[in-house]
Amino acid sequence: MTKTALVLGAGMVGVCTAWHLVRRGFDVTLVDRRGPGQETSYGNAGLIQRECVAPHHFPHELSRIARIALGRGNDVHYSMRAMPALARPLFDYWRASGPGPYPAIVRHYEAMIRHCLTEHDEMIEASGARDLIRPGGFKFALQSAKSLAEEAATAERLKRDFGIAATILDSDGLAKAEPALKRRFAGAIHWTDPWAVRDPGGLVGRYAQALEQAGCTLAVGDAATLAQDAGGWSVRTASGIVRAEHAVVALGPWSDQVLRPMGYRYPLFVKRGYHTHYKGDAGLSMPVLDLQAGTMMVPMNMGLRVCTGAEFAPLGAPPTPVQMHRAEARARELLNLGPAIEPTPWLGNRPCTPDMLPVIGAAPNHKGLWLHFGHAHQGFTLGPVTGRLLAEMMNRETPYFDPQPYSPTRFH
Ligand SMILES: Cc1cc2nc3c(=O)[nH]c(=O)nc-3n(C[C@H](O)[C@H](O)[C@H](O)COP(=O)(O)OP(=O)(O)OC[C@H]3O[C@@H](n4cnc5c(N)ncnc54)[C@H](O)[C@@H]3O)c2cc1C
Repeated sequence: MTKTALVLGAGMVGVCTAWHLVRRGFDVTLVDRRGPGQETSYGNAGLIQRECVAPHHFPHELSRIARIALGRGNDVHYSMRAMPALARPLFDYWRASGPGPYPAIVRHYEAMIRHCLTEHDEMIEASGARDLIRPGGFKFALQSAKSLAEEAATAERLKRDFGIAATILDSDGLAKAEPALKRRFAGAIHWTDPWAVRDPGGLVGRYAQALEQAGCTLAVGDAATLAQDAGGWSVRTASGIVRAEHAVVALGPWSDQVLRPMGYRYPLFVKRGYHTHYKGDAGLSMPVLDLQAGTMMVPMNMGLRVCTGAEFAPLGAPPTPVQMHRAEARARELLNLGPAIEPTPWLGNRPCTPDMLPVIGAAPNHKGLWLHFGHAHQGFTLGPVTGRLLAEMMNRETPYFDPQPYSPTRFH
C-alpha cells in the first residue's frame, strides 16, 4: 500500500521533508497558504553555513550583556514590552548557552551541519539550480585588532576540532580582496567552505518545481484546518480536503499556532530579522558581514541584500526596523550603495528554541503526526539535512545520524 503524507509548510524545511519522502515512495501533498519559499526561507542571507558548527548562543560575558541591555551595537535589538512573555524562553536560552550544557549542544549541532553541503548538492544537481550557487565562502570583517584576534582563535579551534577551513586576512589582505570597501578594517576571517545562494527563495522554488515533477502535489491551504480522524489526517485546501496517513508540521515560526490547540506547548520564540535590496552588487566579490555593526551585505540576483541581526519581539508585532536603518547607514559608509529597491524593509522570523536545536520526530501524543521546526539561524542550511533525517524516521529506516538530541519529547 502507498504511504501517504501531508507536509504543512513549504519553506526550506517543508520542501526538503517532502523531497525525501517522495524519494522513499510516499504520496505527498505539500500545503502552504503561499507559494514555496516565500516567507523566512525567502528573506535570509542565503548562506549554506558549513562553518556554523556552534549555534548562536546567548552571551554570558557581562560586557556583552550590558551592551545589549543598553541598546549599544546593532547585532541585537529588543522591545521592553516583549520581555515579560519572552522572559522564560530567554532564561532557558541563557542557561543552555552556559559552559555546562553548551558543548553538548555544539556536538549535536555539528552532527547536522557536517551534512549540509552534500545534502544540498544532491538537490541542487537534481533540480538544475547550480546557477544560483556561489561557492567560495563569505567573510567576517572585524573592526578592531582585538576582535580579529578573538575570531582568529575561534577559527583555529574550529579547524582543530571540526576541520572547518578559514583564511585569516590582515587589513591589507582584506582591502585587496574586497577593493569596493571604502573603510579599512583590522582584517577578516574568510570562511572558505560555505556556499552563498544568489536567490534563496528561488532555490526553494527550484527544489519545489523538481518535487512537483517527481509527483508531489503542491496545494494552497490553511494548516490550521488540520484534523485527525480514524484514517489519519486531513487538511482543507483550495482544491478540496486532502487526507493522508501522516502529517508533518513544518511551519517554521508558525508551527506553534497549529500545535497549541492540540495541547502541545513548545517554547518556540522568534528572532526577527530585516533586509533591503539595493541596486547593483556594490562591487563585493562575496557576502561580507561587518560583525560589530551587525550588518550583513550579500550580492544577490536582485541586488545587494543588506540583512540585520536579531530582534526580540513577538511574532506578528508591527515592524520596528531600527537595525535596518543603522545597517543601511553602515553599508553606505562602507560601499557605493545604490538606491533601495523595496519601499519598506522585508521582515522575517527565525524560529528558535531555548536549547538552539530544532524539534524533529514523532509528536508525543498523536499517531502519525510528525514535528519539524525550530531551525533558528540555520534553517536554510539545514532543511535538506533534517528533511532526510525525518523522512528516514517516518519510513522506519535506520537514521543516518542519531535523532535523539532533537526529540520532540525533550521539553515535556
Ligand atoms: C535576516 C535573516 C537571515 C538569515 N540568514 C540565514 C542564512 O544565511 N543561512 C541559513 O541557513 N539560515 C538563515 N536564516 C534562517 C532561515 O531563514 C530560517 O531558519 C529558515 O528559513 C526556516 O525555514 P522554515 O521552512 O522552517 O520556515 P519558513 O521558510 O518560514 O516556512 C514556513 C512556511 O509555513 C507557511 N505557513 C505558516 N502558517 C501557515 C498556515 N497556517 N497554513 C499554511 N501555511 C502556513 C508559510 O507560508 C511558510 O511558507 C536567516 C533568517 C533571517 C530572518
